Amino acid sequence: MARVIDSKCALCRRAGEKLFIKGERCFTPKCAMVRRPYAPGIHGQARGKALSEFGRQLAMKQKIKRTYGVLERQFRKHFDEVKNKSGVTGDMLLVRLERRFDNVVYRLGLATSRAQARQLISHGFFNLNGKKTDIPSCEISIGDSIAFRKEKKDKSFLSLLKEIKKTSTIQIPGWLVLDESKWEGKMLSFPTRDHIEGDLNPQLVVEFYSK
Ligand code: SF4
Repeated sequence: MARVIDSKCALCRRAGEKLFIKGERCFTPKCAMVRRPYAPGIHGQARGKALSEFGRQLAMKQKIKRTYGVLERQFRKHFDEVKNKSGVTGDMLLVRLERRFDNVVYRLGLATSRAQARQLISHGFFNLNGKKTDIPSCEISIGDSIAFRKEKKDKSFLSLLKEIKKTSTIQIPGWLVLDESKWEGKMLSFPTRDHIEGDLNPQLVVEFYSK
C-alpha cells in the first residue's frame, strides 16, 4: 500500500529542513524530517542536482513563505510594504513577517504553531490592545498587548498550552514578554535580524522580485 504523504511535512522535506509548521510534533522523533530527511516522491533520495540562480531565489521565496505560512499574494503585499523604506529590504521583509499578529501569538507560546495561531485569531480568540482583532496579518507595534479574550478562555485549551510550554523548546524572544498569570503578551522592541530563526536569506527574495 502506498504511504500517505503528509502535505505539511512534505513542505519541510522539499525545503530540506524543518519549517516547524505542525507545532508540538516538530519537536518529537515523529517529525518527518527525523524519520525521512529527504524529498518526498520516488526520486526524493536521489535528488542532488544543483539549482540555477533563479531556482535558488524561487526556493528561498517558497521557504520563507512556508515558514510563516503566508500565501503568495500576502507575501508580495508584505514585500511591497517594505520595498521603498530605507534600510536593507530583505531584512525588513523578515521583520515585517515577524511582526504579523499570528507570528507574535506563536512566538509568545499562545499557540502551538503559526497555523494554529492564525486559526485562533480568525475565530476571534484574541484581543489586540483590548479590542477583538481577527486579522492574522496585521502588524504589531512596540507597546501593543495581545491577550486571550476572557469569554474565549477555555480551561482545557489553556491547560494544553501550559503542558506544551513545559515540554517544548520554544523560547519567547527578547522583543516580547508574556505575563503567564493573565496569558497576556506585549511587544517590547522591534525584532532584529538576529532574533529570526532559521537559515533564511531574504536577499534572494529581493533579487527574485527585482527581475
Ligand atoms: Fe512536519 Fe514539523 Fe517536522 Fe516539518 S518540522 S516535517 S511540519 S513535524
